[in-house]
Amino acid sequence: MDAPASTEEKGGKPTESCRGLVLNMMRFALHDGPGIRTTVFLKGCPLNCWWCHNPESRSRKTEVTYAAERCIRCGDCVRACPEGALELNEQIIRNPSLCQQDARCVEACSTGAQEVFGRWMTLPRVMAEVLKDQIFFDESGGGVTVSGGEPLMQADFVEALLAACRCRGIHTVLDTCGYAEWQQLDRVRRYADLVLFDLKIMDATKHQQFTGASNDRILANLTSLAKGQSAVVVRIPVIPGVNDDEDNLAAVSGFLAPLGLRRIDLLPYHRIAIGKYSRLGLPYRMGDVAPPAEEHLQAIAARLGRDGFHVQIGGMS
Ligand code: SF4
Ligand code: SF4
Repeated sequence: MDAPASTEEKGGKPTESCRGLVLNMMRFALHDGPGIRTTVFLKGCPLNCWWCHNPESRSRKTEVTYAAERCIRCGDCVRACPEGALELNEQIIRNPSLCQQDARCVEACSTGAQEVFGRWMTLPRVMAEVLKDQIFFDESGGGVTVSGGEPLMQADFVEALLAACRCRGIHTVLDTCGYAEWQQLDRVRRYADLVLFDLKIMDATKHQQFTGASNDRILANLTSLAKGQSAVVVRIPVIPGVNDDEDNLAAVSGFLAPLGLRRIDLLPYHRIAIGKYSRLGLPYRMGDVAPPAEEHLQAIAARLGRDGFHVQIGGMS
């Protein structure tokens, strides 16, 4: 069960286009498209990448988590829980079979040890946040980016959000892993001034192994986007030992060049998210793989550059 609706969201059943499950809204983002942006991270993703930097965005439900290092053992959350799902020992123990994910413990916890990932927000509420920074968008050439998770899992909401931004003259970016029905992507891209499109692994078997899904649909969608004249920046996460080999780079080059897609951002793997995996009770499958060295990233950029691509290390700004 998800967190209770806010007062704003009560009174009539909201439709999928007027509310979204939002993980986070980041104001003054500088790497999710041009200029100063507000990035709306939505919850839910169809892929299960080993290196995922936002594991809290995978589930399509709200998730209550606990961080023992922030806990002062006051017991307020235990008393607040209507289900008797919490027990205070050396640390708080949650009984998942009793927990209803209603986040009462989060409201009761003053230290942030109990935390909820995801909240339902109506379109007007998201737009109210967005409009706070319109002056910065206007001055910097920025705007709104919808990211995730995978935004296209909430295609109705994203379409409505980007359309509302367009109405107000706000630049729009869709950041997608590309794994969606073409009809959904086609609807949303019409309201996106730019699409940031992840291209992870070209080999189909390897893609299935490391992301849990085939890349057929992703490659087909990227092809259709390019043919449909959408502005696209391809984003390649650089994952040592997974997709940074010559075979993959040559395949990337051979696939993108005929499509006329010349702009690539390299997004280096990092290990900052490890703590989130343990909080969510998820396994971290990258072991002790280290982030790619700067020289290695430069070498990849140079290699793709020789094939005529304009390559940037890090997200665009
Ligand atoms: S979310 Fe927290 S308060 Fe609600 S049932 Fe679960 S443990 Fe209890
Ligand atoms: S309310 Fe927060 S700080 Fe207090 S015991 Fe619960 S988790 Fe720990």
